[in-house]
Amino acid sequence: MKFCIQSRLDPQSNELMGLARSYLEEFGLLFDEENPEIVISIGGDGTLLHAFHRFAHKLDKIAFVGIHTGHLGFYADWKPSELEKLVLSIAKKEYNVVEYPLLEVQVQRNNKESSTYLALNEATIKSPDVTLVMDVELNGNHFERFRGDGLCVSTPTGSTAYNKALGGAIIHPSLQAFQITEMASINNRVFRTVGSSLVLPAHHNCMLKPVNEQQFNMTIDHISVIETDVKAIIFNVANEKVRFARFRPFPFWERVHESFISDK
Ligand code: NAD
Repeated sequence: MKFCIQSRLDPQSNELMGLARSYLEEFGLLFDEENPEIVISIGGDGTLLHAFHRFAHKLDKIAFVGIHTGHLGFYADWKPSELEKLVLSIAKKEYNVVEYPLLEVQVQRNNKESSTYLALNEATIKSPDVTLVMDVELNGNHFERFRGDGLCVSTPTGSTAYNKALGGAIIHPSLQAFQITEMASINNRVFRTVGSSLVLPAHHNCMLKPVNEQQFNMTIDHISVIETDVKAIIFNVANEKVRFARFRPFPFWERVHESFISDK
């Protein structure tokens, strides 16, 4: 089996990376940065986001696993002290693979060109001006004209990240869905938005259409881009899935409890 390791590049993560690599090679596994079957991320959730985007073009062949060298992460749920146990399970192939939904973002330009992105957590849209103004269409029907700081469109596994800070719902990742959450919408007698987060199923889509401005600041997970000449931005549940190697049960709601409620 071929493996690769993504480190946050701090001294502790680098030391663990060296140990993990030598242990796995002792078991006869091959270090391969081009075509790994398992990618071990060592650092935090942000490190796993980097690993995901590094291998986003071959997701069907890769299973990810995360070790946290800081606090417990949603994607990075193994402790450094468990490294040997983890290596043994990888070498013996004693793991299951679980698949979770991703968000597809398609930016269509007036010049007929387009770009497509995949997000593991979310995409956000903001305006370089103070207020973002965009028409929101759901399945081709006008829904509202949004005015406010911006919009966050998240995956179920991303619902515990930026989306949660905005007051969005936490969505179980077995649901094939995506969520649209407002950032400080302007609501008064003149301007109106729904206010609540919307959760859309896999066969629905959301299209954002600029009203005046055609340049936007967009983030895809940790990546920030400036999109110009925008005609429309379309969001769907992606056909691609992210695959995680699961070595032991760690139910999603327990993960939520340990991350946000438990003071242990
Ligand atoms: P970062 O290092 O600032 O990470 C932000 C925090 O988000 C970290 O504590 C990380 O553990 C946590 N996080 C990431 N994914 C998560 C998930 N799926 N569930 C729960 N927590 C999660 O930034 P980064 O490493 O570049 O990560 C980018 C992510 O930061 C974005 O995808 C976005 O979700 C998040 N973010 C959050 C806020 C906010 O909460 N106000 C603002 C901007 C970005």
